[in-house]
Amino acid sequence: MKKPEIPLIINGRRIDGRLPDEVREIKMSIGEILNADGSARVSFGNTEAIVAVYGPRALFPKFLQETDVGLVRVIYSMSPFSVDERKNPAPDRRSIEISKVTKEALSAAIFIEDFPKAVVDVYENIIQADGSTRVAAINAASLALASAGIPMKDLVAACSVGKVDDTLIVDLNGKEDNYSESDMAVAMMPSKGLITFLQMDGRLTKEEVLELLKKAEEVCKRIYELQKKTLLERYKMEKEEE
Ligand code: ADP
Repeated sequence: MKKPEIPLIINGRRIDGRLPDEVREIKMSIGEILNADGSARVSFGNTEAIVAVYGPRALFPKFLQETDVGLVRVIYSMSPFSVDERKNPAPDRRSIEISKVTKEALSAAIFIEDFPKAVVDVYENIIQADGSTRVAAINAASLALASAGIPMKDLVAACSVGKVDDTLIVDLNGKEDNYSESDMAVAMMPSKGLITFLQMDGRLTKEEVLELLKKAEEVCKRIYELQKKTLLERYKMEKEEE
């Protein structure tokens, strides 16, 4: 836990002017990467993720194949230009960890038994980073998987929540993320009421954890509605083009 050089809450407002329960502007779109079987772009304010999904396709080398289930591979990477100082594009500990946890968040929703011996590759690219990039990546990946026609139990919606200057907040930006007393990343299958992923840093009381989970659920449900609307609009557009 680092000490902030500036207060993060001034007169009830956050450094970007938001109220504690306010989410940044969310934008979603589908299908921009034409080579991919499915793709999606999701932004929360200045944080922007673009995800490409390829597959299901044959998995080689063959010894990796499972006869009864398919494989899901996820690679998270932050572009060198996504932050102020050039980020080394080589995989680092952080991106290896995020690839693993976002894969788990998504795998819970995928019917892997529907594509035995095959693989689905998910490439999560952060093109602008200003906090909460892993949850932006999960939201975009879930949309990209659905748009690729991968059989899923539900969409996965994710958000961050946390505590700064003794105040519980949602959707942390970069500064809030770095100086928070605690931050949590949560992913859910909202229609099933199931949490597929939860990570927490810092210290919180039990009451604060429960309060933050409630806030996360509300935000995830809003994101979920937006995801469904984005898919539906894309589907309608394709129907009209036919
Ligand atoms: P998340 O982006 O999921 O919140 P972290 O908590 O690891 O994951 O990162 C918080 C924020 O710190 C990022 O969203 C980004 O704004 C910033 N950040 C992370 N890595 C770097 C980096 N190598 N250079 C500059 N900023 C970074």
